[in-house]
Amino acid sequence: MRIVRPIRLLRWFYPGTFWRGNRTVRTVYLTFDDGPIPEVTPWVLDILKQYNIKATFFCVGNNVEKYPQVFNRLIKEGHLVGNHTYNHINIWKQGTKDYYSGIQKFQKLYCATLFRPPHGKLYPWNVWRLKKMFKKIVMWDVLTYDFEKNISSDEVLKNITQNVRNGSVIVFHDSTKAWGHLNKVLPLSIEWLIKNKYHFKLIEN
Ligand SMILES: [Zn+2]
Repeated sequence: MRIVRPIRLLRWFYPGTFWRGNRTVRTVYLTFDDGPIPEVTPWVLDILKQYNIKATFFCVGNNVEKYPQVFNRLIKEGHLVGNHTYNHINIWKQGTKDYYSGIQKFQKLYCATLFRPPHGKLYPWNVWRLKKMFKKIVMWDVLTYDFEKNISSDEVLKNITQNVRNGSVIVFHDSTKAWGHLNKVLPLSIEWLIKNKYHFKLIEN
C-alpha cells in the first residue's frame, strides 16, 4: 500500500516534527531528497529557475562531497539545504551510533539547520535529541512516489494534485531512481499548482 499523505498516528509518533505549514495560506513547500547529483539536480535547478521557485534540498553528504559544483550552484541560486545524513543511513537497520556520526559528518561539510530522516525512519526518542541539533525535523505532507517504478507518471502527478492542500510539504527526489517520473511530473505539477493559485515557499529555518 502506498501512503501518499501520512496517517495522523505517524505524526503523533514523532512529536514536534514539521509535517505541514500554515493551513490558512495557499502555500506549498517543494522539497527534493537524496541529491545533489549531476544527472538530475542541474535540470531541477533549471526548472525552478524558469518558474522563479525556491525549494529545500535534503542532501546526502556523500553527494555533496562528490559533486561540489552542483551543490554550490544550488546554494548560489538561493535554495535551502537540509541534512539528510552522510550516506542515507537507515536507523532501523544500522543503528544509532552510525546514524549520529553520519549526521555529524554532514554538518562538517555544511552546517544545516534542517534535518530530514532517510526513509522517514526514526525512533520517537531520537526526535528529542535531533531537535537539540536542528531547528526543524522536516517530514512531509505529500509523498509523490516519484521513485516508484511500478506506477505511471500520471499516477505520480495524481498523488500530488489529489492530496495537496494549504501548507503541504511535497517530497520529490533528485535521484536517478526518480528521474523517469520526475522529468515529466515536476513541470506538470508546478504548472498545476500555479494554475490552482498555490505559492511556493522555503521552509522557515
Ligand atoms: Zn532520502
